[in-house]
Amino acid sequence: MIFDTHAHYDDVKFDTDRYELLDGLFGSSVSGVLNCATATENFSATLELCGKYEKVYAALGIHPSDCYRYESLSDSLQILSDTVKKNDVRALGEIGLDYHYDFSPRDVQLAYFKAQLELAEKLGLPAVIHDREAHGDVFEQLRGFRGTAVIHSCSESAETVRQLCRKGHYISFSGSVTFKNASSVREAAKAVPDELLLVETDAPYMAPVPVRGQRNDSGNIKYIISVLAGIRGDTAGNIERITEENAKKLFKIG
Ligand SMILES: [Zn+2]
Repeated sequence: MIFDTHAHYDDVKFDTDRYELLDGLFGSSVSGVLNCATATENFSATLELCGKYEKVYAALGIHPSDCYRYESLSDSLQILSDTVKKNDVRALGEIGLDYHYDFSPRDVQLAYFKAQLELAEKLGLPAVIHDREAHGDVFEQLRGFRGTAVIHSCSESAETVRQLCRKGHYISFSGSVTFKNASSVREAAKAVPDELLLVETDAPYMAPVPVRGQRNDSGNIKYIISVLAGIRGDTAGNIERITEENAKKLFKIG
């Protein structure tokens, strides 16, 4: 069975068929989904999905591309902290740095990232990290982090991955590992030890080859698993088994 460690099923792209789709996925190949909220306004949508589906688990956080919209860091962090404490939340995320879009000024992104890493540490929750073209600063921030991180949709180098894994952080691969021009991602995927390997969709985004460009969902993880199996000289069945076990251990499921 497949555990999808990063999805956004509250996204408007699922408004027409969200429940049919999830019923189908949980009725077949998928044993769990971590649904990641990205802003305080959508915390309730993720929690609602978790209330409706036993196998949907919550991650709550403020995304680097959303933090510019808040007037006060301390007020939005208070909402995050209060909501996490009142609900069954398995991770803080997604949080991080996005220097590709730069929707929020970098000093603001850094302030939110630091504060949320501190909160993850304080609450004893894993932190789900978004890193887009910000490898140096993400690595620097994780240096002092004493909790456990998940590098979501990994785009780091194999060497950085080795260093992160030595500290016990998890590395999650999305559809990007299947893209033709992603040989560095495939190198990184070789460098992860079995016990720290995870898979994800980032649905509705990042659909893997051969469905690239379409709306993504957890049913497509089979394509990611098959590429990982090829790269790592393993069987798809074993990759499926170890990534499910890793996710359940990390998010304290079962
Ligand atoms: Zn995401």
